[in-house]
Amino acid sequence: MADPKGFLTTDRKTPERRPVDIRIRDWKEVYQDQEFHELQRQAGRCMDCGIPFCHQGCPLGNLIPEWNDLIWRGEKEEAIARLHATNNFPEFTGRLCPAPCETACVIGINADAVTIKQVELRTIEEAFDRGHVTPQQPDRITGKVIAVIGSGPAGLAAAQQLTRAGHTVVVYERAEKIGGLLRYGIPEFKMEKRILDRRLAQMEREGTRFRPGVEVGRDLTVAQLKSRYDAIVIATGATQWRELEIPGREYEGVYQAMEYLPWGNKQALSELPAEPQIDADGKRVVILGGGDTGADCLGTALRQGAKSVTQIEIMPRPTEERPDGQPWPTYPMVYRVSSAHEEGGERVYAIATQEFLADDEGRLRALKVVETRLEDGKFIPIPGSEHEIECEMALLAMGFTGPERTGLIEELGVTLTDRGLIARDDEYQTNLENVFVCGDAGRGQSLIVWAIAEGRSAAASVDRYLTGRNQLPTTIAASERPLAL
Ligand code: FAD
Ligand code: SF4
Repeated sequence: MADPKGFLTTDRKTPERRPVDIRIRDWKEVYQDQEFHELQRQAGRCMDCGIPFCHQGCPLGNLIPEWNDLIWRGEKEEAIARLHATNNFPEFTGRLCPAPCETACVIGINADAVTIKQVELRTIEEAFDRGHVTPQQPDRITGKVIAVIGSGPAGLAAAQQLTRAGHTVVVYERAEKIGGLLRYGIPEFKMEKRILDRRLAQMEREGTRFRPGVEVGRDLTVAQLKSRYDAIVIATGATQWRELEIPGREYEGVYQAMEYLPWGNKQALSELPAEPQIDADGKRVVILGGGDTGADCLGTALRQGAKSVTQIEIMPRPTEERPDGQPWPTYPMVYRVSSAHEEGGERVYAIATQEFLADDEGRLRALKVVETRLEDGKFIPIPGSEHEIECEMALLAMGFTGPERTGLIEELGVTLTDRGLIARDDEYQTNLENVFVCGDAGRGQSLIVWAIAEGRSAAASVDRYLTGRNQLPTTIAASERPLAL
């Protein structure tokens, strides 16, 4: 156990964010480093619970009390070994995970949870700094060849596990660079792309082969795919965005979040994109959707120099405390203030958009909205509350409905569920014998931690299918849902 009295003597302390007026002038990450001594004190708050609910909260089953104890003792090398035992990419989850482990932490019943995510992040960063993250090349090559389609966190986790098991793994990605939403969705201020590139370099040295700029189903036909590979892992994400079919959707100035954010990410790195500019500079921006993707649009628009940003949400404002129906250790819907919200903009709740309004040249000039109240699960417009919100740019951040159904998915002939997701059994196997699926494509729009957990588990199934051995760990069965999500 870490410090036996730590949870009584030490208050929770998270790292400071850089001052708002400085950070919105650049694209660098928002958080500052915490003194290692302070981090140790924080890790020392862990009670090493008999039943560590943090484990159940984490889809990866991270061995949290073990590495809390090791960090408290200063045993950094052992700590990273325990962390890597369950998580291929702690530098992604340490920055980006909403940390269901923390909402499940036992201390959270009547005090502030252990800063698990911060201990995770610092453990991996110390390991990179000290050269403890080295390529893990396989002892022998099996001769089996596997295609992983899609290079987001699910595809990358599956590829790393299968490469380390001795298979030859080729990762196909239709975008010009590898990384999926880690590269083109998540803004630089949440995770700098050099963090992704650092891990990709390790994977390349281990032997994983990357083929960006190849759309499977178009540049590589399904017939070629089937003839070349012993097994196929679909990790193509849930990229089909939700539309808002109301009058005026076609006006200039109305974009989907995932049309806007990739452009912003390229702009942040001065990679001058070929696509037309979608720049918020000098504009009044409205974001439709109160979730995390909306917050990413908000932070991007502020950095581009938007005149104002309003984020609107159809749901009522969540409460600041856990609602009665979502007690510990569940992951509650509460009012959260992300770093982007701290930087500016306004959030408006219980409001629905009825129409986009344009000037004579078809350029967006306002949104016509109405206030709503929630009654029996339905949003009822409040008569007389209609009004306009003036803006020159509207960004639709209303989520994703599942994988794209045309192209690869259609040609392969995989079965879909009622929700339009790729159907799989508990072993992540589709209706086709040597075709497996993991991440958002099979699960629906979700989280990085889930994508990694599913990628690891699908890799274990593929390895078993090809070799009949059980050498890779299964993190979670496809149908399993841990306690906290
Ligand atoms: P993806 O990351 O979507 O990757 C799928 C890849 O497959 C894409 O690159 C796509 O181009 C490629 N592809 C598709 N079809 C083909 C084809 N035919 N041939 C070749 N390649 C193909 N989660 C968090 O936990 N924390 C966050 O902070 C967070 N922020 C987010 C911000 C945004 C803007 C969005 C949209 C999502 C965010 N998420 C976040 C969710 C998280 O990013 C996803 O759950 C996760 O990336 C899913 O991983 P994946 O590997 O299944 O798919
Ligand atoms: Fe430590 Fe919290 Fe996990 Fe208990 S639940 S072992 S206090 S991190």
